[in-house]
Amino acid sequence: MVSSTSSYRGRLAPSPTGLLHLGHARTFWLAAERARQAGGKLFLRNDDLDAIRFRLDFVAAMLGDLRWLGLSWEEPVVAQSEHHALYRAALEKLHAAGLIFPCTRSRRDVLEAAGAPHEDEAGENDEPVYPPQFRPAAGAPLPPLGGKITVNWRFRVPDGQVIAFADSRMGPQAAVAGRDFGDFLVWRKDDVPSYQLACVVDDAAMGITEVVRGADLIKSTFRQLLLFRALGHPAPAFHHCPLMLDDQGRRLAKRHDALSLRTLRERGVTPAEIIRGFGAD
Ligand code: GLU
Repeated sequence: MVSSTSSYRGRLAPSPTGLLHLGHARTFWLAAERARQAGGKLFLRNDDLDAIRFRLDFVAAMLGDLRWLGLSWEEPVVAQSEHHALYRAALEKLHAAGLIFPCTRSRRDVLEAAGAPHEDEAGENDEPVYPPQFRPAAGAPLPPLGGKITVNWRFRVPDGQVIAFADSRMGPQAAVAGRDFGDFLVWRKDDVPSYQLACVVDDAAMGITEVVRGADLIKSTFRQLLLFRALGHPAPAFHHCPLMLDDQGRRLAKRHDALSLRTLRERGVTPAEIIRGFGAD
């Protein structure tokens, strides 16, 4: 008998910058469920590029907490900190195509020129649209990247272009480049790739077919779709889960220690009780 093999490849991509809370647990549990129902494979990627907030004990805690919840994934765990060469190659491709530019403006320059950032319904700020007057002229020759990168590099978004995707949970999504989001960072002056670039390069390299993550990242998805296209990779499907809110309607964050899986576990809450609490969503 020929067994049917599914081409579904999903991933869990926690950042080891704090303890996982109930909101993470719900998203990751759902990601695992979707992979299981599709008969596919699930990978775990340790998004460990944030050197300032990174802690080794958080890596152990996130793996331990997800296993405790009953999740499993393909071994070995993938770590972004081991993929520098892959990210650098992608940056060189963007550079060769003239799709990025160096930016020496400070965060403050950008904030002052762009005005107040737009707040969405969840009370979340996205970064302000990069002021077009700060861009070098289109087609101006780019300086070389150099060995170690000491300046920020941004992706030049195609102004006025509608970027759209069909989200299997949240429905049709669309944003206008240059209006709803602007030129975004792909590489930082401390020689670290941005989340947007690293995420796209890895999702492509890992052959991910569906990305399941929190709805706070929908805004990132528009940027990432531009990068998939620029790098010549097919984009995965997207399933963004509604964010879990606390009793005051604020999204769960690392400040909600009482709702960390660690604390719940110590208080004797069982994985079955936690999963039952997720309901149909
Ligand atoms: N590591 C990212 C985070 O924890 C999520 C990345 C993703 O799912 O694309 O916010």
